[in-house]
Amino acid sequence: MIFIALFKQIPDIGFIKIDPATKRLVREGVPNILNPFDLHAVEAALAMRDRFGGSVYAITMGPPAFKQSAEEVLSMGVDEVIHLSDRAFAGSDTLATSWALALAIKKFAGADLGAVFAGKYSWDGETGHVGPQVAELLGIPHVSGVVSLEPNPPRATAAREVEEGEEHVEVELPAVFTVTDRTNTPRAPERPRGRYRVVTAGEISDRTDIFGEAGSPTYVADLAEEKIERENRVVIDARKSPEEGARAVLDFIKKVFGEGGASAERPAPPSGPASGREIFVVVEEKLTGGAAKASYEILGMASELAAKIGGYVTAIYGGEKPEELIARGADKVVLLRGADPRDYLAHTDALTRLVAERKPWAVLAASTSYGRDVLARAAARLGLGLTADCVDLDVRDGKLAQFKPAFGGSVVSVIYSKTLPYMATARPGMFSAYSPNYSRRGEAVEMRVEPRLRFKARDAARWELPDPREAEVVVGVGMGLKRRENAAYAVELAKLLGGAVAATRNVVLAGWLPYYVQVGVSGKAIAPRLYLALGIRGDINHLVGIRKAKYIVAVNINRHADIFKAADLGVVGDAIKISQLLIELLKASGKAI
Ligand SMILES: Cc1cc2nc3c(=O)[nH]c(=O)nc-3n(C[C@H](O)[C@H](O)[C@H](O)COP(=O)(O)OP(=O)(O)OC[C@H]3O[C@@H](n4cnc5c(N)ncnc54)[C@H](O)[C@@H]3O)c2cc1C
Repeated sequence: MIFIALFKQIPDIGFIKIDPATKRLVREGVPNILNPFDLHAVEAALAMRDRFGGSVYAITMGPPAFKQSAEEVLSMGVDEVIHLSDRAFAGSDTLATSWALALAIKKFAGADLGAVFAGKYSWDGETGHVGPQVAELLGIPHVSGVVSLEPNPPRATAAREVEEGEEHVEVELPAVFTVTDRTNTPRAPERPRGRYRVVTAGEISDRTDIFGEAGSPTYVADLAEEKIERENRVVIDARKSPEEGARAVLDFIKKVFGEGGASAERPAPPSGPASGREIFVVVEEKLTGGAAKASYEILGMASELAAKIGGYVTAIYGGEKPEELIARGADKVVLLRGADPRDYLAHTDALTRLVAERKPWAVLAASTSYGRDVLARAAARLGLGLTADCVDLDVRDGKLAQFKPAFGGSVVSVIYSKTLPYMATARPGMFSAYSPNYSRRGEAVEMRVEPRLRFKARDAARWELPDPREAEVVVGVGMGLKRRENAAYAVELAKLLGGAVAATRNVVLAGWLPYYVQVGVSGKAIAPRLYLALGIRGDINHLVGIRKAKYIVAVNINRHADIFKAADLGVVGDAIKISQLLIELLKASGKAI
């Protein structure tokens, strides 16, 4: 039995810069690291070998410099590193990369393939496409975002993290599993005993045109740097007077919420004729039932795009109540029947059939686990370009311009596809949904699908704290609050402000707050109107998760703390005292916002 781990070397996101003249990434002086989730993929493959015997091959595709990470992976005890390195691979997008990896897996594991493990996403690109696309190209199932795996050949049950909890999926082996830093603890390095070999494009395929730029259906048209630092920063020193600090924070909050409801929903426009070019929106069923809010946001965005191209929107959905989708912007609905409403493999089959039959202009979904799974596999099956996790979409010269952040959001690329339909997933929280307009009319038809996955359990209701991605005000907890009991002040403060708490990774690791409120590169990305950072240092790994906050207020005892560079208002002072005072002030004055 051969177990495969996929890995990638990436530039450390904290050091990324763009040369303003050439608009190219400056790579000189940027340290490289092994993509952190991939360490866990290697560990997962080694754990399979420990249990079932066989060999572990770790495969990567990249320039010769990737040898640095290959050595790290070898020191974990893999039997062989296969390094796909050839000029023919240069400029590969996710689909061309997935082809190279899938062909290498076929060549080196063949019928002995036991399972493939990859990181949930790479921190520089954050597409999360490679796992599902490699699976699709190998013709095997996948489970992304695995937090625990129970292998029981010829099947395995995986618990996977999704937006509102966990779901347990049973799949046939071999399968591809993508993992995170919650999946396992990577073993300590030892003296490497495995072999390192370089493999060229010609050794895995005689059709090298499927790799590199030639084989990539997407291309980057432009790059723009996104600065973390905020303009017009104000820093006040409240070390001697925490009261002054608390008052300044409260005044700022009042000012922000006095600005009016910028993010208020607007009603869906009246329905028009469903004619012209079609835009598909793949709508997600929540774990708890009903369409996801993120899908309503995409419906709203799709309806605006449809107006620009003279077209209409068709929602594709495995759940009930098509009238809700019509009320929020869909002109037609295709209801998928016969499989679980979250069966991403069955829905991929349906989507690929619908694309072939109806030739839409674009296919969109929210960049949630489900949305990425369905669109990544469908794009691989159809050989189409797909851009993940867009923060904006627009029509330019009749094409879909897709704005995608990379390197932790320090860069935004403008991406186009060479293929039709255009395919993109968009980040939740970036577009506002329409409020329902029940006078809209539209047709709903049913489509039969074959079930492909068995869901064994869903665990959605465990979360006691509200989701920070849904809140307008988020109170962030850092280690500067010193003790678990003090984190309770942040929870209370968030409640008084009608918002949610978030936490740094260190706070989550210390067990003060649960993992699902972690914000940052290995947690969630949030876009509240106001983020109040209490005792947070402001490390880049945290900042990338709050970049889309409209305003940031930070309280830190260290006047040189990095968080102040990212904050609109910085208060130098004791975050524990200031949060206690804020609670008192809010209680005394009634509602602040
Ligand atoms: C693989 C990997 C993944 C990671 N992913 C994430 C991620 O997703 N999200 C994330 O947040 N981090 C992540 N990190 C961790 C990140 O690099 C930082 O270590 C972390 O964000 C720091 O947390 P902190 O600011 O709470 O704690 P610290 O670094 O301990 O900072 C505490 C801050 O509190 C201040 N302080 C102390 N006392 C007080 C007081 N009384 N009042 C006010 N301020 C006070 C200090 O001046 C300091 O600035 C990751 C790291 C790694 C290696």
